[in-house]
Amino acid sequence: MSECLCLMYHNVCPAAAIDSPHGPLAGLSRSIASYTVTTEAFSEQMALAAGNGWLDPAELDDAPPAAAAAATSPPRVLVTFDDGWAGSVDEAGPVLEQHGARGVLFVTTGLIGHPLFLSPGALRRLPMERYEIGGHTVSHPFLAELDDREIQRELQQSKATLEDILGREIRSLSVPNGSIDGRVRRIAGELGYRAIYTSEVRLNAVGRVRDGIGRVAVRRTTPRATFQQWLEGRLGGAGWRRRLLSVPRRLLGGACYRRLRACVLGERGTQNEMLDLMRGAHGVAAPPQAARVVDAATGSPPPPPRTRAAEPVSSTH
Ligand SMILES: [Zn+2]
Repeated sequence: MSECLCLMYHNVCPAAAIDSPHGPLAGLSRSIASYTVTTEAFSEQMALAAGNGWLDPAELDDAPPAAAAAATSPPRVLVTFDDGWAGSVDEAGPVLEQHGARGVLFVTTGLIGHPLFLSPGALRRLPMERYEIGGHTVSHPFLAELDDREIQRELQQSKATLEDILGREIRSLSVPNGSIDGRVRRIAGELGYRAIYTSEVRLNAVGRVRDGIGRVAVRRTTPRATFQQWLEGRLGGAGWRRRLLSVPRRLLGGACYRRLRACVLGERGTQNEMLDLMRGAHGVAAPPQAARVVDAATGSPPPPPRTRAAEPVSSTH
């Protein structure tokens, strides 16, 4: 059985810029910053991963029988980037090109236009041979906590926005925060998403990904030795971390767990930070269901949006 190790990155940024108090990431919380991998580490990781061989995303959901039957060891590698950070193109792009890899870039459409994220023009200029573009909702919500109508709106609107910008069909979806259930799968399928990328930590059997594509998140703190174990197909540590965190999340419920975690870490909560970034992108209120998210630390609603001329999320600017 041919297997695939699917890596989940977010932002990529030079080490000097990450650490600078005046750098582009200054002011972001530790939890968001922890998902920014340095350009130097990303280069090293891609050089290591190239030894395994790359998997093109098109092979995952449309594998010919021969490919599915072929045995390969170690697993081939597929690189993905969530959210649509500019660094996932500006910094990671040249490295992918150097190694002949093709990545999948999942874009949260509510963040398009923020200085730290890709603009419509930047998305249009991306070479198709280097990136496949997928959806990552409008407002980065916990989808499994929404009702069916809200799930549909998040998935449909973001797909339409990206198709409008790019002029081609969007077939892949990455589920924000790993929040997925049977309704999310069903609605995504009905809307035409053919490949659903999750946060489940596991290798994938090429050609058998109907139940979703598992991924392992690469963080700034991921040690080189751990990354090498992943390349050998050993995901033990990463899987245990996620399973351990899932226990209090299940016992307390998603929202309560996030409030507790935010209090302990002294942060506002990743989702609320994402909403702040969206306000910075558009100067308008976040979408209705996202605006209902209460401040994780204080239990009060998020502050009103900064006033700035509204910029529509469309291909027209
Ligand atoms: Zn995300």
